[in-house]
Amino acid sequence: MRNRRAALAAMATAASLALTLSACGQNSDGGSKEKSGDTKGATIGIAMPTKSSERWIADGNNVVKNLKSKGYKTKLVFGEDDPDTQVSQIENLITQGVKGLIIAAIDNKSLNNVLQEAADANIPVIAYDRLILGTKNVDYYASFDNTKVGELQAGYIVDKLGLKDGKGPFNIELFAGSNDDNNTKYFFNGAMTVFKPYIDSKKLVVKSGQTQLNQVTTLRWDGATAQRRMDDILTSSYKTGRVDAVLSPYDGISIGVLSALKSDGYGSKSKPLPVITGQDAELASVKSIIAGQQTQTVYKDTRKLADVASTMVDDVLKGKKPQVNDTKTYDNGTKVVPSYLLQPVSVDKSNYEDVLVKGGYYTDAELK
Ligand code: BGC
Repeated sequence: MRNRRAALAAMATAASLALTLSACGQNSDGGSKEKSGDTKGATIGIAMPTKSSERWIADGNNVVKNLKSKGYKTKLVFGEDDPDTQVSQIENLITQGVKGLIIAAIDNKSLNNVLQEAADANIPVIAYDRLILGTKNVDYYASFDNTKVGELQAGYIVDKLGLKDGKGPFNIELFAGSNDDNNTKYFFNGAMTVFKPYIDSKKLVVKSGQTQLNQVTTLRWDGATAQRRMDDILTSSYKTGRVDAVLSPYDGISIGVLSALKSDGYGSKSKPLPVITGQDAELASVKSIIAGQQTQTVYKDTRKLADVASTMVDDVLKGKKPQVNDTKTYDNGTKVVPSYLLQPVSVDKSNYEDVLVKGGYYTDAELK
């Protein structure tokens, strides 16, 4: 078993090995291996983190659609943002005999034991959008360029405030995602690299003083938690002065932050809302952008991600080497997981029609 995993990993770099293995239909320790075309009617388990955010519902549906078109059956579960629930859901999927797993982790470190069970049952695992840490039993990673997401958010704020034209100083507050999500640090570090020169030159001022990742995370990406933190910041640090920009890593957090700002009187002519970013192009936030409240979001086409992840699991099961485009960035503490990274796109009022409507993600009617 261990050897089969090693062989799977090696497939990412050694096509010849993959060919040899599929030619003899065996793995290197002589155990049985899925043969090409032998996957008909097999079931793939899909574990998504939550239904509380619509992107994951879309992800789940898109993965199901894709796998069905490839001839698979599927079992799709949502973990209610509770790591223990997700672990038992995955255990159930293994017991039910799934032949592959696609997992978007809730807590990136909670899956080691259950993934050992998957490995023992010879089940390949694709980490979906969120890398799973601390285990060798994750075969491939399908995601977006997560550093770029943060760069797009921060770059948008820099442009919108006119910092490159020497304008400022401006006040900004920073929010990050859940500390148990591996993406969080990539988003935040990507953004902070862009902000650093302006923070150093005091053209961007974080009045709360909260600039370290561990001061600004939002457990489980919860909008209400972010709202409370924004309330506190407004009370403690903005008795004078105004917030000019908020780095928000996710649309649900942006909605919470906007509520806090509106309760404090922002959103009027004399006290306009700050520039506020987001991520996922969720329907409520795109509507908010059109209405001039949230300013920007980062769109990640879940249809494409679902396609990449489904193709990966299909390839692995058929003994083919999945296509990857990054074999360096995503070290999970045990190994560098071969990855396919898609490109995120910045969306605001000026281009949502082109990107989201013409791109078929939403209809005009849905955005009314
Ligand atoms: C995803 C983001 C999403 C966030 C909250 C992250 O892992 O990459 O797209 O906004 O989780 O659901």
